[in-house]
Amino acid sequence: MSFPDLSAGGNPDYFHIQISTPFAVGDVNVYLIRDEKNVLIDCGPKTKIAHQTLVNQLGEAGLKPGDIDEIWLTHGHPDHSGLAAMLRDRHGIRLLAHRGERGNFAKNSDRQLFGDFFKEAGVPGYLIHEMDMQRKWYEVYFDAMEMDGWIDDGDELSTGRHHFTAHHLPGHSPGHLGFTDENGHMFSGDVLLQRISTNAIISFDPDTGERLNTLRQLRQSMRTMASVTGMVFPGHGQPFDRAAETVQHHLESHEKRYLKILELLSRGPGSLFETAKKLFPEIERPELTFLCMSEVAGFVDRAIIEGFAQTEIINGHRVIIGNVPLSDIACR
Ligand SMILES: [Zn+2]
Repeated sequence: MSFPDLSAGGNPDYFHIQISTPFAVGDVNVYLIRDEKNVLIDCGPKTKIAHQTLVNQLGEAGLKPGDIDEIWLTHGHPDHSGLAAMLRDRHGIRLLAHRGERGNFAKNSDRQLFGDFFKEAGVPGYLIHEMDMQRKWYEVYFDAMEMDGWIDDGDELSTGRHHFTAHHLPGHSPGHLGFTDENGHMFSGDVLLQRISTNAIISFDPDTGERLNTLRQLRQSMRTMASVTGMVFPGHGQPFDRAAETVQHHLESHEKRYLKILELLSRGPGSLFETAKKLFPEIERPELTFLCMSEVAGFVDRAIIEGFAQTEIINGHRVIIGNVPLSDIACR
């Protein structure tokens, strides 16, 4: 379906394809640029229904999968990229993404790093095992894939009549990309959603194995998004304008959460898991553990950098010790 309801983004060459996913986030948005070169921005998860929806919707735009020249992947999470390997194999479609996503395009990546991190963070063994089971389930929805080329920050991409600039917007994933067109409209994947606060997912540097400060990256990427002047075409939910207002809303929510976490830290030392459990009592539901840990890890990183907390290894667990008295937090 095209964008009949959008005056600013109502470009006859752009098509919106909404695809269901097996994930809690719900449907994912795939965008078709029908031009001299036909490009998909993302392609949906590896499920039969997603593939069928994609084929049907391409048909409505007068195209077959084999007419697609390239897929530009915003990032390597399977709701966005799961079908990519199959589309490349069957139809010779070229896949392009940022090299920071290498880990997400492979299976079983960083398993040891995650295991070690969660153990040190005080996550009970049974939940580390459950998260591993979740990862296996999640990996059903994509095939490991090779890219045909890499896109870097600032790269200019053309489809013929339309010209795009790539933006590296890490934080939700290490090599997350957004694409602005010549009118300032942004295809932005998961970096900025209108109704959902994007999770700064725990990730490791693919070269060094160091855990990335994904929340700091995400906040920087969101500030970049605030300068988008056109429509935002996100990976989930409806397109929206006035990106700066949505950015401000999410950044303010971050500040509230940060104060809450400083307050929790001021009540006494604990592991990252214990801290997260105070904020999210539901953390022991295996499908939520990883997201809850990601949500809290970034704020604790920030508290440490800003001198409001420190850590010590005690009996193999990293214990976080808050440095701020409650009274000081109330004044901030
Ligand atoms: Zn994602």
